[in-house]
Amino acid sequence: MVAGRHKSRTLKRVHKRMPGGSTKLTFQKRKPKSAKCSKCGIELKGIPRLNTAKAKNTAKSKKTVARAYGGVLCANCLRMKLKAQARA
Ligand SMILES: [Zn+2]
Repeated sequence: MVAGRHKSRTLKRVHKRMPGGSTKLTFQKRKPKSAKCSKCGIELKGIPRLNTAKAKNTAKSKKTVARAYGGVLCANCLRMKLKAQARA
């Protein structure tokens, strides 16, 4: 029977293969949800789903999109926003 602290589904259950060939149930942190566009809510491309520990050791250029509002707005919403700004 699993220990009381492992009954919660906060942690993901992963069957890991051990060096001896047997498998063992391990508990791992879940991946964060993917980044969404703040206007339309569509999933953003080029933004990886990294835990804080892994994100720390990843270059900024690999975690964002090099463009105005990169990582905040999707390309379509950005185009609309820039058009609206130019008209105003
Ligand atoms: Zn959008």
